[in-house]
Amino acid sequence: MIDRDRYSRLLAIPDYPADKVINSLIIVGGVGALGNELVKNLCLLGFRHIFVVDLDRVEPSNLTRSVLFREADCGQPKVAAAAKGGKEINKETNFYIHDGDIADVGLGVFRRASLIFSDFDDLYPRYIINAVATKLGKVWIDAYLGFKPYGGGVAVYDGADARAPCYVCHTGIQTYRETFNTVQDREGCQVKERDRTKQGFLPTTPTTCSVIAGLQAQAGLHYLLMGNSPDNQWLSKLFHLDILTVTSRIEKSVTRSKCPFHPPADRIISDNFVSLNGHNSSTTRLSELFQIARENFPIQKSNAIYLQLSRQMVLYESCMTCQREIERFQSVVSIVRDRKKGRIALCPYCGSETLSFHPLYGVTTLLDESMPFQSYSLKQLGLPSLDILTILEEKEDDYMYYFLEMNGDCVKILPGFSSVEV
Ligand SMILES: [Zn+2]
Ligand SMILES: [Zn+2]
Repeated sequence: MIDRDRYSRLLAIPDYPADKVINSLIIVGGVGALGNELVKNLCLLGFRHIFVVDLDRVEPSNLTRSVLFREADCGQPKVAAAAKGGKEINKETNFYIHDGDIADVGLGVFRRASLIFSDFDDLYPRYIINAVATKLGKVWIDAYLGFKPYGGGVAVYDGADARAPCYVCHTGIQTYRETFNTVQDREGCQVKERDRTKQGFLPTTPTTCSVIAGLQAQAGLHYLLMGNSPDNQWLSKLFHLDILTVTSRIEKSVTRSKCPFHPPADRIISDNFVSLNGHNSSTTRLSELFQIARENFPIQKSNAIYLQLSRQMVLYESCMTCQREIERFQSVVSIVRDRKKGRIALCPYCGSETLSFHPLYGVTTLLDESMPFQSYSLKQLGLPSLDILTILEEKEDDYMYYFLEMNGDCVKILPGFSSVEV
């Protein structure tokens, strides 16, 4: 039901998509200066289900350009402060928050989203969204601020059209590869990026943020109304605005022939996808997952199958002192991060600090039915809640992809939205 008094002016607009506004899940990645303005707009427009993602804390310097934050929020997670501020604007808006990395948001959340917005400062989370959007066939809307304080823009990437240019096509494949080569040292990169922002490398004004996020919200409304129809003038375009010189330009990216996302090998379609109602990531074990995959998909009995993980995992480390091998299941990123913070694991046999993993052996992104860890739950394997798991079947000279969604997590991750059909 919609409050006819409150929304009377919006309902008077013939193409205000009231039903979609009420029933859609919206993802907002990044609630800094732009994300604040976007969330404000979404709350004013009456959106009921907003999933916000950010790993930062509110700092005093945010208060000059973040409409949802107050002084008392300093030190708090940005997602929590944005949800609180958004609720003050519209108490009917349900917020779902992820205080962490966008790479740890389950694909099932993205699958349910009608709009995916990116308001991050960095390239890395945009590449994550790009991969997810092309895999799921989703449109996503990016907003950015230029390095000049009065400029920025909005770009709409049409992941639903496998031939449409994606974010990798836009930035170039070289930049994409370089960004991912540094992934092992990701924590370091993020810190560097944040320091740059602190030093004023990304000057922002509240007026620029407001204008750019306003355009972004408008592009989103357009997509809800028109979808992928040719009349949707925003699709596959980048609209850049310089507010100081009062100039604008429109860029149209072209699909690069070497870009790996057209289509991605692991595109999810209805034929290779099953949503498992009774299953959640806390209780489903790896062995059970393989069994479910074999029961649900036309996998040949004699073919090997694998669970594909999104991160490089270390399966064992070797002790340089006593030469023993120690079973382990931890991501490369988190081991490197722990070491940097001085948290060094000790050898359980000789107590020395000389554990190390070989960068090639004992490190993998694929788990099979013969490895240890079969009794681990998906949560223990480090997989996000409400995720869609990728199962590979090894054919003679190729892989087949199958996907299993842990639908049982939905009530926990999206409590107010879980009853909406997708
Ligand atoms: Zn591309
Ligand atoms: Zn040892």
